[in-house]
Amino acid sequence: MVSSARPPVASQPTSLKHAEARARAALIDVASYDVALDLDCGEETFSAVSTIDLVSQGGPTFLEVQPVALKSVTVNGRPADVALLDRGRVPIATEAGENHVVVESVMRYRNDGEGLHRSIDPADGRHYTYAMTFLDAAPSIFACFDQPDLKAQWTLRVRTPHDWVVLGNSPATEVEPGYWELAPTLPLPTYLVALVAGPYHVLRDEHDGIPLGLSARASIAPHLDHDADELFTLTRQSFDELHRLFGVRYPFGNYHQAFVPEFNAGAMESAGCVTFRDPLVFQSRVVRTHHVNRATTLIHEMAHMWFGDLVTPVWWDDLWLNESFAEYMGARVAADVTEFSDSWLSESYGRRSWGLSADQRPSTHPVAGNGAADGATALQNFDGISYAKGASIIKQLNSRLGDAVFFRGVSDLFEKHRFGNAAMADLMEAWERAGAGDLSAFGDGWLLTAGPDRIVLDRTGGVVRRTPLEGHPADRDHALSVATAPADQPGAWTFDRVVLDADTVEVAVPDGPMVLDPHMETWAVTLHDPETMAALPRVLCATRDPLVRASAWVSVRNGFEHALIDPDVVLDLVEQAIPAEDTDDGVGQTLGWAIWNVVPVSADPTIAMSRIHDVAARCVARALPGGSLQLAAFQVQAAAAADHTVLRGWLASGAALPDGVVVDLDLRWRMLRRLATLGAIDRDELGAALASEPTAVSQVEHARALASIPDAEAKAWAWQRFTGEVEVPNYELEAIGLGLWQVGQDRLTDPYVARYFDELLATTEVRTGQLLALATNVFYPRWSVTDDTVAKAQALLGSDDVDTTIRRELVDETWDLERRLAIRRSFHR
Ligand SMILES: [Zn+2]
Repeated sequence: MVSSARPPVASQPTSLKHAEARARAALIDVASYDVALDLDCGEETFSAVSTIDLVSQGGPTFLEVQPVALKSVTVNGRPADVALLDRGRVPIATEAGENHVVVESVMRYRNDGEGLHRSIDPADGRHYTYAMTFLDAAPSIFACFDQPDLKAQWTLRVRTPHDWVVLGNSPATEVEPGYWELAPTLPLPTYLVALVAGPYHVLRDEHDGIPLGLSARASIAPHLDHDADELFTLTRQSFDELHRLFGVRYPFGNYHQAFVPEFNAGAMESAGCVTFRDPLVFQSRVVRTHHVNRATTLIHEMAHMWFGDLVTPVWWDDLWLNESFAEYMGARVAADVTEFSDSWLSESYGRRSWGLSADQRPSTHPVAGNGAADGATALQNFDGISYAKGASIIKQLNSRLGDAVFFRGVSDLFEKHRFGNAAMADLMEAWERAGAGDLSAFGDGWLLTAGPDRIVLDRTGGVVRRTPLEGHPADRDHALSVATAPADQPGAWTFDRVVLDADTVEVAVPDGPMVLDPHMETWAVTLHDPETMAALPRVLCATRDPLVRASAWVSVRNGFEHALIDPDVVLDLVEQAIPAEDTDDGVGQTLGWAIWNVVPVSADPTIAMSRIHDVAARCVARALPGGSLQLAAFQVQAAAAADHTVLRGWLASGAALPDGVVVDLDLRWRMLRRLATLGAIDRDELGAALASEPTAVSQVEHARALASIPDAEAKAWAWQRFTGEVEVPNYELEAIGLGLWQVGQDRLTDPYVARYFDELLATTEVRTGQLLALATNVFYPRWSVTDDTVAKAQALLGSDDVDTTIRRELVDETWDLERRLAIRRSFHR
């Protein structure tokens, strides 16, 4: 889809600073919002009227609004000067006591997944909207006081086309055709206000007195219907378990889960109405890992109803607590009471490496107390540290305190700060009141100090050694197991407990392999010693416990990323161990990791890719036809295939297709994309594939395929979308960035390396927030592994006028690039 570029964002809104939020919270207390929105007055803009009742100490303050046109602002009946609107703020004068503020504005729909997002479903041309009010985005929908500790009651009134339904935090009633009123909510901050409006397909159920709902676009209704039983079952099981653990009832009445188009995050925990990215309604067969991850996401959001929604952080720097806790509960509840008992395994293969990488970059930060000065800075800390590392620390604390004390403290916090706000200290105090003892040393070492320790076995010294990350001195205890096995029986593990409370701790050194932290109980960069590394092919094949294998792979990844293991050695290990692997996490996530990380830095990426392909083919051949393991392997086989006649044979569902594999929407586009990357399909054929099945998925995949084609036209086409010369919605932009850069297409993409660094800063004129970060990331020239590219990045980082969101992405990506360069330098010169 091509649409004309919008006018530049003339003046980016100012992100609220912590000091400003404190001052405003000391001055005012917001009682209620009444927000009227007209979504039936055009496709570009909508009108909003915010009526706000607040109590003030008396004095000047400001409200936030990001309108196309600000029609009027009145405070206690007197007009304020709308011309004073500056970068999303309007100054107002409040009187001591009760104040009544009314703001009328015209607002713009967005297509970047924030604010009030509006999209058109290519399958049927119908329009959908939903609100994403998180971090600085609420004022692009309605005027408000946008900070987490000004909670208020919300009443929404929404006019829509007559065939739409409206969903939100509280029950919605269509009081006349196309006019909906939502019941007043319990106290909520701006960032948890939900609105989902469009011709959505809605399913309803009930559990334990809680009305439940699911919704998705009409064109994917059959897929939602298909998944509904799994989703409702998970919801019921998780409510029961969360009620049991927390000892506090779900407080928000109904619980709706809306799957919405082009959503940036996995999901958002708006109270009583969670929004999810709608690829989570599966339109094709997916591997089990995706079901597990959807389950943990669903439970993660449910846990937020307490941690975040019932008790909200005072300021964004404590949002880690929401995320770490929700992440922990997601994996734990899935493992304990649902069919997805292997959720910790998926967490190990997926989230752990994400967190460990983030924690070693120059931008590492403590889990807690990172002192986010404003909302925009806080948003960048929604990374593997706040989620995966934080969850690991919460898990450690749970195992140290035991469930009784741990949840007594949590319940205490919920009771004490019900419908209010709390900070990290309040939770620590609640745990201490519950009998946890003094947690200050634990908090200092794990929550307030950045960086992971490195843990290695020193066979000669007979010790396990702990080293903090350079530049981040730390003294933290690790409680972990070590698994040892005899040299001639590499899978016959004995597990011993080790408390690593000094830089070195003596251990009994085995004559065979030792896997450190085999159950991933602590948070550290574990590395294999050379003897264990040498035994690893036999170790991985002989080890029955998939979690121990996952841990061994995490250590391989760590060693590889630190240029301690040759890419060829990793590929050897993949060839030897993966065909014996029996979990689809182990096969799919390891091979996927190797394609993304190992192939690009290997001596010959084409050969490396063909080795991965052959491993995947062996896995397909020995897997149960039609099973998830087979699908996980076949997805890789298709992505790594180099023979376009084979790919075309599969596409035609020919005889060469392995028994049990069915080419559906997802597999079809994997093959079409691969053909495009190989230069073995033309634009007309890709266009015909889109036209024959014009789903939202096809549209995004088609964009990625077009950008992947190895010719100059494809790269120029992609570049126009990066610069904003041609505007595309968020999912397509991401796909195009991923398509543009391909290993082996350097000759075509080299001109864009310099252009990236020259033109990047100007993209702040066309995008903000999450999409600015995403575009900076996906269009980064990550496969240009040269000193020159690193130098260009460093030169840009050396200038003072780099936007903070761009800077963070540049720092991280450049560090990753330097690591790739280090691997190349260590093994290919
Ligand atoms: Zn979350």
